[in-house]
Amino acid sequence: MIEIAPGVRMIDTQLGGRSGLTSAYLIGGSQPALVDPGPETSAGLLIGELHKKGIGPDDLAWIVLTHIHLDHCGATGAVAAAFPRARVVVHERGARHIAEPARLVAASHEVYAATAPLYGGLTATAADRIVVALDGHRVPVGDADHLEMIASPGHARHHMSVLHQASGLLMIGDAAGSQLPGGGLYPNVPPSDVDISAGRDSLKRLSARRPTVITVSHFGPTPDPIHTLADADDALDRLGRAAMEGYRAGGRSGIAAAVDRYIPIAQAIGNPEVLAQWQWLSWDLNNILGLEIWAQRQMAEQATR
Ligand SMILES: [Zn+2]
Repeated sequence: MIEIAPGVRMIDTQLGGRSGLTSAYLIGGSQPALVDPGPETSAGLLIGELHKKGIGPDDLAWIVLTHIHLDHCGATGAVAAAFPRARVVVHERGARHIAEPARLVAASHEVYAATAPLYGGLTATAADRIVVALDGHRVPVGDADHLEMIASPGHARHHMSVLHQASGLLMIGDAAGSQLPGGGLYPNVPPSDVDISAGRDSLKRLSARRPTVITVSHFGPTPDPIHTLADADDALDRLGRAAMEGYRAGGRSGIAAAVDRYIPIAQAIGNPEVLAQWQWLSWDLNNILGLEIWAQRQMAEQATR
């Protein structure tokens, strides 16, 4: 656990037993908050880390979710059970899945079949412990300090980024992509409701908030917030054009070829070991599948115009 901004500590939730892949954030205060508990398979480790840092069973006030993909929210039920006073803050589109997770877990395991065992599932949290967040929602963490939930659709329709008022740290989830230790930034555009245009609009809105530090879920603070947002926007622009051009030329394989031309992943990441981590998680393949679904939707919308 390391302090990445005043009052904010990062916890490596060690997806699949590997460090440097998934991160959770503990925001200190009279009402401590945990942002993105991570996959269910890491719940035991995370709860142990919180106890070690003096967060007793009655201390945690909030579990805040950037979105309900299992690598971010899977441990929610287990953490909520270990900290019975904590309430879960989540986008309105995600709330019902936290209370009744069966459909979400089944759908996720179908899409991410190969890597599903790494993530595990998600156990239910009682509906009366779930707080629905809309854009601008404030989560109080201390006397004069709060987290602001900023709607940032793109990676998923229900994605939210979390701005820490006191430090200016922006926990951006997957809205800017991933930057694993030792590698470059590259977008995550997985199935099934990725939206490139919405993602670019979200990056512009986040940029206007002038964050002092940006931390990506995978993994940790980036070197420069403004560059991170500009790079992410440029990358989404290229991926969007690659998706449309590639899809028209030849469906899924056409998209893969066009992505290689517009924004080759090996070059952008620039480190073979980091690329191997992406491939181990199937993030590179998931991107092509996500872009295919988005391109299909774009074509259908154009046809009905
Ligand atoms: Zn993620």
